[in-house]
Amino acid sequence: MSSANSGADARTVDVVIVGAGFAGLHLLYRMRELGLSVQSFEAGGDVGGTWYWNRYPGARCDSPSSSYQYFFSRELLEEWQWSQRFPPQSEALAYLNYVADRFDLRDHIQFDTRVVSAHYDEDRDRWRIETDAGEILVTRFFISAIGVLTEPLVPDLPGQDKARPKFLHTCRWPHGGVDFRGKRVGVIGTGATGIQVIQSIAGEVASLTVFQRTPNYAIPIRNPALDETDWQTRRDQADATHALTHETFSGFEYHLNPQSALDVSDSERRAYLEELWADGSLSFWVGNYHDILASEAANAPVAEFVREKIRARVDDPATAEKLMPDYPYGSRRVPLENGYFEVYNQDNVTLIDVNEDPMQAFTEQGIRTASGEHKFDYIVLATGFDAVTGSYSRIDIRGRDGASLNAKWAQRPLAYLGIQSAGFPNLFMVTGPTAPTTAFCNYPTCGGMQVEWVTDCIRHLTRQGLTRIEPEPAAEVEWADHVDEVANMTLIPATKSWWMGSNVGGKAHSVLGYIGGANEYKRICDEVAAENYKGFETA
Ligand code: NAP
Repeated sequence: MSSANSGADARTVDVVIVGAGFAGLHLLYRMRELGLSVQSFEAGGDVGGTWYWNRYPGARCDSPSSSYQYFFSRELLEEWQWSQRFPPQSEALAYLNYVADRFDLRDHIQFDTRVVSAHYDEDRDRWRIETDAGEILVTRFFISAIGVLTEPLVPDLPGQDKARPKFLHTCRWPHGGVDFRGKRVGVIGTGATGIQVIQSIAGEVASLTVFQRTPNYAIPIRNPALDETDWQTRRDQADATHALTHETFSGFEYHLNPQSALDVSDSERRAYLEELWADGSLSFWVGNYHDILASEAANAPVAEFVREKIRARVDDPATAEKLMPDYPYGSRRVPLENGYFEVYNQDNVTLIDVNEDPMQAFTEQGIRTASGEHKFDYIVLATGFDAVTGSYSRIDIRGRDGASLNAKWAQRPLAYLGIQSAGFPNLFMVTGPTAPTTAFCNYPTCGGMQVEWVTDCIRHLTRQGLTRIEPEPAAEVEWADHVDEVANMTLIPATKSWWMGSNVGGKAHSVLGYIGGANEYKRICDEVAAENYKGFETA
């Protein structure tokens, strides 16, 4: 590593971007359009971010393809045709590859390269970026599009080094796939990822043992194929769809129901929920009665409706009971599923509730729980991520006076609008902590809002002859207080989830994303910009 290099002879660019996933490609497109020199770095071997890394069986997008796409190019909207309402991983990845080629973005991206440090040099008013290849760049703007879920979690159990089964983390899946036919497989984790893996491989493995810590309110997906008529309708409606995603709470095309779940009779509610259920999408979550996340009383009948649906699909009542969530519906990410609960009716599938039968160690042949040893050929870790702040933990980011961003965030991730942190001038974050991207937002919608905001901000600075922007400390605290205040009006902080950091031992209990709505977030960001970047200091 050439860390001794002061940067005096280093390559200089206007912008360094970290990440070539959904947000990173959008940013690169916009920065180049501004006429700036840009260098992107990507740890993966190609573009795609989440869709590059998460190649596990059954990986699919829970956002509908009508709004899980870019709206920045009319040509792109005309050209790309999604095959299904909810695209599989391979298609989402093909889309991002198409975009990279279509707009000649690849030449600006260095793959298989991690940024290991980014230090702000106050005297030169520049960032000094170092990669794991020892390359050093000097840049005015440093933009992180690093993603929300990039740092995999592995259970803290002894014995993995001596265990013979092959371990597979879902976000480090072999590119050639895995042949599970006739194999004994253990899957740890039943989040959105685990559910997709389990329902996809249960039919081919010799035996499948699922280790569940928290059951989920998964709801059935309806995923029709799309044809020429659908494509034409989508093209015609693209502008309206884009506008709608900015008007809704979730950045999807679903409006929350303004009625209270408690203002209707039981039969009316049931009829409404059945109708919403039949849509087979996350509308059953973020298009439901508006108060289900604010009031336990409003939540209860909806939660019971879903539990009834699950119960009806599982033959063995004891297994069904293990699959019953007992926290408020929707206070953790709701996964979509396809035949997941029926898997537990198969003779080759066993469900272990690790709260009753705790995992104690990995053994030479598998996993030992309190009740005995379970032998496997493969152990799939669908155990999730050290979310949002964890993504930053592998980069040594230092601002004014050498202050570390990771240290600053240890107790509370302060970032004004989720975009900038005080003391770190010209460091922009897209999908950073306390932005809405983390929780309730369709990723391209809220990621896109932030990309456009950062682009407008840099354009504004350039036009005004300014070179630096950073938030006032008071503004980021006020924003963090607002984020907490909004979260505390909901049932979310009281439920354990990765949104609250509770899946990582020792992580601060703090809401990682803004829950005030994509629409409200956009209104606030637009207002800040319109009021001459209120809460920011420029120079
Ligand atoms: P996750 O939601 O955090 O789920 C991880 C699972 O592993 C949970 O069931 C967790 O239990 C369990 N787990 C973790 N450590 C464990 C341990 N030591 N012992 C036992 N169990 C353990 O992660 P994910 O499923 O990868 O999903 C993360 C997010 O990615 C989702 O919420 C979603 O936003 C996104 N995602 C989206 C899609 C899609 O669009 N279709 C698909 C997959 C993922 P606890 O719940 O008790 O922590």
